[in-house]
Amino acid sequence: MAIASAALGFPRIGAKREVKKASEAYWAGKISAEELQKVAKEQRLQRWQTLQQQGVEIIPSGDFTLYDHVLDFNYTFNIIPKRFAEAKLSALDRYFAMGRGHQKDGVDLEAQEMQKWFDSNYHYIKSEVSSSTEFRLNDTKPVDEFLEAKEAGIQTRPVLVGPITALLLGKAGRDEADRASFEPLSLLGKLVPVYGELLKKLQEAGATEVQIDEPSLVMDVTANLAKEYQSTFEALAQAAPGLKITLATYFGRLDKNVEYVAKLPVSALHVDLDRAPDQLDQVLAAVKPTQLKLSLGLVSGRNIWKNDFAASIAIAKKAVEALGEDRVVVASSSSLLHTPVTLANESRLSADVKDWFSFATEKAAEVATIAKALSGADVQAALDANKKSIDARRAFEKDSDASVRDRLNKVEPAMYDRKSAFPTRKAAQDKVYDLPTFPTTTIGSFPQTKEIRLARSKNTKGELSTEEYEKFLENEIKSAVDFQEAIDIDILVHGEPERNDMSQYFGEQLQGFVFTENAWVQSYGSRYVRPPIIVSDVSRPHPMTVRWSSYAQSLTKRPMKGMLTGPVTILNWSFPRADVSKEVQCKQLALALRDEVCDLANAGIFAIQVDEPAIREGLPLRQVDWDAYLTWAVDSFKLATAGVEDKTQIHSHFCYSDFGLIFEHIKRLDADVISVEASKSDLKLLEVFHKHGYENLIGPGLYDIHSPRVPSVQEMKDRLAAFMKALPSQKYIFVNPDCGLKTRGWAETKAALENLVEVAKWARQQY
Ligand code: GLN
Ligand code: ZN
Repeated sequence: MAIASAALGFPRIGAKREVKKASEAYWAGKISAEELQKVAKEQRLQRWQTLQQQGVEIIPSGDFTLYDHVLDFNYTFNIIPKRFAEAKLSALDRYFAMGRGHQKDGVDLEAQEMQKWFDSNYHYIKSEVSSSTEFRLNDTKPVDEFLEAKEAGIQTRPVLVGPITALLLGKAGRDEADRASFEPLSLLGKLVPVYGELLKKLQEAGATEVQIDEPSLVMDVTANLAKEYQSTFEALAQAAPGLKITLATYFGRLDKNVEYVAKLPVSALHVDLDRAPDQLDQVLAAVKPTQLKLSLGLVSGRNIWKNDFAASIAIAKKAVEALGEDRVVVASSSSLLHTPVTLANESRLSADVKDWFSFATEKAAEVATIAKALSGADVQAALDANKKSIDARRAFEKDSDASVRDRLNKVEPAMYDRKSAFPTRKAAQDKVYDLPTFPTTTIGSFPQTKEIRLARSKNTKGELSTEEYEKFLENEIKSAVDFQEAIDIDILVHGEPERNDMSQYFGEQLQGFVFTENAWVQSYGSRYVRPPIIVSDVSRPHPMTVRWSSYAQSLTKRPMKGMLTGPVTILNWSFPRADVSKEVQCKQLALALRDEVCDLANAGIFAIQVDEPAIREGLPLRQVDWDAYLTWAVDSFKLATAGVEDKTQIHSHFCYSDFGLIFEHIKRLDADVISVEASKSDLKLLEVFHKHGYENLIGPGLYDIHSPRVPSVQEMKDRLAAFMKALPSQKYIFVNPDCGLKTRGWAETKAALENLVEVAKWARQQY
């Protein structure tokens, strides 16, 4: 009996970004809907064939999407808010409008909210449900794609988001009377019969298996949902008795949930042994007395490292011993959508480095090879090659940079703390610059104009010399400084024109990172990023930003704010190493940034902002793990920033700022000034600062930069007044927008900031 191999999902972009390009061309009106669908169909076939060629037996279908798989789910089950349902749009345009908004031919629809998919950097479209939601099959995409594969001679296993996870990820729609207390999960009873109908259609179409994704099972929210899971899966099993259900969990551990999950009437359970290898014993114990098959998520769907076959085979053998061969499947840990398509398109990586990696296509082959090895097939050559490669990687890791490790080992506890407490620092800072109350500043970037992007790309291609490019950047900085002086901003920034991306820019200058040409990973819709890869110990060979900040400072007598991305954010937006902990990697980054912070201070830069939007978004999926994570994450920020004298003002910026449960850690950052997004969220987020007796300075965002709208003076006055009410112990607050301005145009930026300065001046009279 051979052990089967499975892939839980695959990237959607296409090896040459075909899908991204076609979608964007369609949105720009350059190709027709038919042309877009033709590309999509070709790509679906390609994906199936790729997986087949790599030797994978259980091949997914329906996981392909033109925008987002949760949006697909919403569309299929008719979870379409009224404003979209009623708009005069084609089916395809309605679908896209829900994901990305629509502003054409008199139809003006804002996109639905996006949210991060568990702890990945993929964003899904949040469904809006309400008591009036009428679930029905609005389309049959999963069936259509199953049949499409079947016609091409490929039997697939359709993939569906599970009904409970789908509802847990949603929120109350605008038409719900009491939105605050509405529980999307209360609609489960209405959704399940329709879901069952879909399964029945899949069965009628010839499907024998289906993969139902319930990643919520690795989170705390599902601890008390045993009954809901039981009744749901009983109903689904009844609706399509001929379909074998694999219940897929990923990104974390089931913990106690495994006890009820193992009793569900499904045929297989999939667990993630890449992110949560320690759960194996508990899972085996729960599954053993049942009939369940166990699908082992051994090949990572989240990183880009080559699988260590010997280690995977050892784990799998344990499962085979406990359950027998016929009850084990070898699989990717999650969908491979979070990895790039193929290594084959990387021509610039050296052969040694390339040999460390595995992207989606190569990972598919790994899954197949592990399954074959366990089934006794002769794959010795592959195992030998893998061992050689893993050994080489381990050797490289072992002596990558002893001096960095040494430095980290020698870090003294005192290096995590500023020299004095905040009140003393504040007094020292006031002596350097006598800033007015309600000081105005911005979050760092100014508009990244077409001209800036063009100059950068010309410089990369060699069409613009580095000297010319740097002159160009200096001009940009000069006009940003002149502008800020002219409208009377108090703490200036240089505007970040030199940065391609807030994380990549630093990775490119640090030792220990490598970059790819084509390793695109989906962030949302057609937006893909190419995360830097941390391959070894991290250090800073030379100052990274000092010349730009110093230049900006040389143009003005006003205080300049240096701008850095924090260690947690750089780490979180990169592919981390797998051989050392994230903590170690983060602290290495922190030491590198510490040198930069000190160099900026020594160059006479008064304020230094270290952005950490990813601290909050990086919270582990289970709350018991939060403290351990926040301890090293906050320590890393402190290590990066605490090297300066009292007179240097350390700022930090967070985008979304729900700090309720983690406030003690935010306090521990001990930044002199924290700026947070507060223009869209309600004041409760700010009240948390007051409730915890926060005394350092705060800059709640006064207007939303995500929209081109220019905020009026009056609305910002009102908002500032509300902020002051929510923060009664603050004598004054910093007056700033809620995030960087890089995505905005200059016209609206100028108008908005002029209004903002006027509001600060008003506040100085008022309070
Ligand atoms: N300093 C960065 C900027 O202004 C901050 C961006 C962010 O918080 N995402 O662009
Ligand atoms: Zn931000």
